[in-house]
Amino acid sequence: MTLTLERPVHTSTATTAISYRGLTPQQQNGWHSLETATYDLEQAAKAGANVIAELLLAHATAALFLGVDLPAGDTLVECSCEGCPEDCDRITAFSECAEYLDGDTQRPQCGPCAKDHRRYGD
Ligand SMILES: [Zn+2]
Ligand SMILES: [Zn+2]
Repeated sequence: MTLTLERPVHTSTATTAISYRGLTPQQQNGWHSLETATYDLEQAAKAGANVIAELLLAHATAALFLGVDLPAGDTLVECSCEGCPEDCDRITAFSECAEYLDGDTQRPQCGPCAKDHRRYGD
């Protein structure tokens, strides 16, 4: 019997942003796990822990799982644009986003949103 080994296909499907609604349920769960992990790490950081390596590792791993091209040292965020006609749910690299102030919280706004309807906060 002869086995023909298929070579792994290296498609360049790397993308810099994905839609949350377009994820599989498994990927959505993965995203929520990342959000929880990020929150926990941020709390630890506020308490003085050095968590940057853990944070970047968690985000790099999630980016692979979600199929997003994430630059080294960057983190993933979901656009939390308000007043968005499309109810934007893009998950993208933080460096691609703008930020606006919602009360006293910094919220990310993805590149296309910032271009179309940039928010500057209250
Ligand atoms: Zn928007
Ligand atoms: Zn957006």
